[in-house]
Amino acid sequence: MEKQICAFCGRWYDIEAMISLHEDGKTFVLYYCEGCFPAVKSNVASLPYSHLFKWVKEGSHNDK
Ligand SMILES: [Zn+2]
Repeated sequence: MEKQICAFCGRWYDIEAMISLHEDGKTFVLYYCEGCFPAVKSNVASLPYSHLFKWVKEGSHNDK
């Protein structure tokens, strides 16, 4: 299974268990683990340009 490093805590997790942060108009994507996601989300929500960010739960499209 593919792994990604959490951009917040620096630990590696299975990508299926992570939430990715896409910024509008940019090609890079940041990944966060579920433990860090609430803190990161509230940080991003306080930004004046928070509407440019989109969160994607990586494993959600595989939920069956
Ligand atoms: Zn983390």
